[in-house]
Amino acid sequence: MIITDSIIMQSETEVAVTHHPIPMCIPEIRGNEWKYVKECFDTNWVSSVGPFVNRFEREIADYLGASYTVAMCNGTAALHIALMVAEVQPEEEVLVPSLTFIAPVNTIKYIGASPVFIDAEPDYKQMDAAKVVDFLDKKCRWLNGGLFNKETSRRIKAIMPVHVHGHPVDMDPILEVAAKYELVVIEDATESLGSKYKRNFTGTLSHIACLSFNGNKIITTGGGGMIITENEEWARKAIYLSNQAKEDSVEYIHNEIGYNYRLTNVQAAIGCAQLQMIDEYIKDKRRIAEYYNEHLSGLQGIDTPGEAKSVFSNFWLYSILVKQNEYKMDNRSLMQKLTEEQIETKLLWHPIHSLPPYEKFQSYEIQVADELYNQALCLPCSVGITEEDQQRVVKSIRRISSS
Ligand SMILES: *Cc1c(COP(=O)(O)O)cnc(C)c1O
Repeated sequence: MIITDSIIMQSETEVAVTHHPIPMCIPEIRGNEWKYVKECFDTNWVSSVGPFVNRFEREIADYLGASYTVAMCNGTAALHIALMVAEVQPEEEVLVPSLTFIAPVNTIKYIGASPVFIDAEPDYKQMDAAKVVDFLDKKCRWLNGGLFNKETSRRIKAIMPVHVHGHPVDMDPILEVAAKYELVVIEDATESLGSKYKRNFTGTLSHIACLSFNGNKIITTGGGGMIITENEEWARKAIYLSNQAKEDSVEYIHNEIGYNYRLTNVQAAIGCAQLQMIDEYIKDKRRIAEYYNEHLSGLQGIDTPGEAKSVFSNFWLYSILVKQNEYKMDNRSLMQKLTEEQIETKLLWHPIHSLPPYEKFQSYEIQVADELYNQALCLPCSVGITEEDQQRVVKSIRRISSS
């Protein structure tokens, strides 16, 4: 998209009103996408069977060093299936962060189970691993071979960490406590493809994990998702459930309720082309984050995001914290001012534990998630954003604070 500025007028004091819009996060399509999609049309393989589906699954598995991958029509479907193959039962509970996009929480309800909401930690906005351990140790009891929530009497079955904005959750304490209480860990790696925790890719750290290839994710298929696991039986079950639980395709025998969740060959074709670019995209995302960090870090009232020791973040989304007292304005007012200058920004998700469908479920000591929600602002960080546009964002944030 090239829209030229009609008037170039950018000083520290004058507001430039005629600039082109800077979007928050848009896809980058400049590789083999068109060629591969054309191949689908030319060969008539357009639906959920076809060579690109298998190829995309294999290539993601190779990239991550994972054993089994099963493509799905989106990340939410992948999470739904992951909960089913992990045999989370209705009436059981799953620990999930309150500060997340709502999809993983909804999938817990799809299967009739209940979420228990865990706070974020302040440094990287991730599920607070210490609070996960605390909750399980203090608020639950081991009884007849299972861990039960003292307050609700329900069985705790799984933990679902979400690598928010691409930065890995501190997984070791979570994996350790999960092993201690025989819980399943289901990673929501939908935002963190390419990120690493202690040299291992997110998505390969737990029992089963999910990816998304939605339009704004690090790579896209338009819409799409994938399950990753080392468990062959679970992988087979995921294929089965996402394919209408078809036992026999001649006689159409179905012994269970299944779903139509498969990815199409056309989408997988886009995915194969996108995956060829992922290293470049992540390099760009990290360069974008570095630029903002360097040019905003001195600014009073603005906190820039860091990267924990021994992790590698794909910096999928970039968000600052706006400290109202020092910046003289809160994140929402800053968002409004930037919108007036055609700079698109986004708030963090509303913490889920206080949203109407979920407010009656248990939440454990949540404070930080609300604070982050009230301070965070996501800045434009498309892979293709130019340095001039980043400079414009920085200048605007600096000018607004001093006016
Ligand atoms: C994008 C996203 C999903 C869902 O992916 P879709 O492909 O849009 O269904 C799930 N969890 C998180 C944290 C996400 O950001």
